[in-house]
Amino acid sequence: MVLDVPTLLVVSIFVTAVLGLLLIFAWIQDRSIQALGWWGAAYLVGGLSAGMLSLQQFISSPYLIDFASALLFVACGMSWNGARAFDGKNVRPFAMFAGAIIWLVACQIPGFADSSIGRIVVSSLIISNYTLFTAFELWSGRSEKLNSRWPAVIVITLHGVVFPSQVPLTMVLPGDRIAATLSNGWIATLAIESLLYSIAAAFILLEMAKERTERVHKEAALIDPLTGVHNRRAITEFAKQILSRDVRPTKPMAIFMFDIDKFKSINDRFGHPVGDKVIRLLAATAKKTLRQTDVFGRLGGEEFAAFLGNTDEKGAIIVAERVRLAFIKAADVVDGIEIGATVSIGVTFTTNYQSEVDALLSRADEALYEAKNAGRNRVMIRSEQNLQVAASSIVPDLSEAAAEPVTTH
Ligand code: GH3
Ligand code: MG
Ligand code: MG
Repeated sequence: MVLDVPTLLVVSIFVTAVLGLLLIFAWIQDRSIQALGWWGAAYLVGGLSAGMLSLQQFISSPYLIDFASALLFVACGMSWNGARAFDGKNVRPFAMFAGAIIWLVACQIPGFADSSIGRIVVSSLIISNYTLFTAFELWSGRSEKLNSRWPAVIVITLHGVVFPSQVPLTMVLPGDRIAATLSNGWIATLAIESLLYSIAAAFILLEMAKERTERVHKEAALIDPLTGVHNRRAITEFAKQILSRDVRPTKPMAIFMFDIDKFKSINDRFGHPVGDKVIRLLAATAKKTLRQTDVFGRLGGEEFAAFLGNTDEKGAIIVAERVRLAFIKAADVVDGIEIGATVSIGVTFTTNYQSEVDALLSRADEALYEAKNAGRNRVMIRSEQNLQVAASSIVPDLSEAAAEPVTTH
């Protein structure tokens, strides 16, 4: 197969331009992912560079190649900045142009301009550096789990390693063989590798952006906007997961239902915004007291629920009392206004991993109802056997358990 460089260049121009437009189009549709704009622009600049290189056939000017190469390095710098932007890092405009500047300055040195080895070494190193840094940026953002992140890191790293392989090759070949090697297809092979790489990279980057958007939407659908904790849908979903995973006949799960006392009157006396603040205070207080592994969220209004894996009656009472006491402290004075809000908590348990989430919540709600009837500002337990116990009366002294005040905004 004869690989014709001018033909490859024409293919490259069209492919990179189309991919660039595709990325720009995706960015216009979702402006929140700025990286798509960077990558799209990088592809367009890369396409422009290939366009200038293909003009060589008609215009014989050394400046044309120098400038086309500089544009290609800027495109690589833009891709790198795109990877930085993707993971929320600052873009670095100067570093983006550094490769091009080094190149253009080097081209002014007479010995360098005439040395094909020198030109290949420098250009390969610039491209490979930007490429490997791009892979590094995507790798360093790996704490955000995206399935396409690893293929992106691998493909980009491979390109960063393969591309400069021409450097040792030019080193071992005698000078007069270089020109022959270049026309012999090595350039064409590299051009094909670069072309295939650009296609693969564009689609992987698009996929990464799509996964990011899906993740953000999915998270938003599970978060309560007022408090930032999980909403009812998330509570149900995650509670089902820990029920099937953590609950055994010997490992009970505790289910809590929280409801702020006389909340209507807080709204009436101090206004809705203060009421909102009190709701946020309960969310923050409970979240601070519960474990990371516990499922906690807002069911709606001033009602919250929690699922605590591997928690027996004694442990549940201690935690519930801690939340109750910490909330008294946190909601005593809010913004200089004496509120004195309190919370009632209903608690129940299950050792049956097949229990329905709604059934468990309504059992905890029954305990909560008892707590309200018994005078509010207390914890009531409804055990699996339906025994009703006033937890506050069986806990000796938890005054030291009151956590430090929780602040909220
Ligand atoms: P109880 O002690 O029996 O729980 O009395 P309560 O006044 O708290 O009774 P209830 O639970 O019925 O009151 C809930 C109130 O919460 C009614 C509603 O106006 C208010 N509310 C619901 N959602 C919000 C919200 O997002 N912000 C504010 N500020 N108030 C809310
Ligand atoms: Mg209520
Ligand atoms: Mg209430």
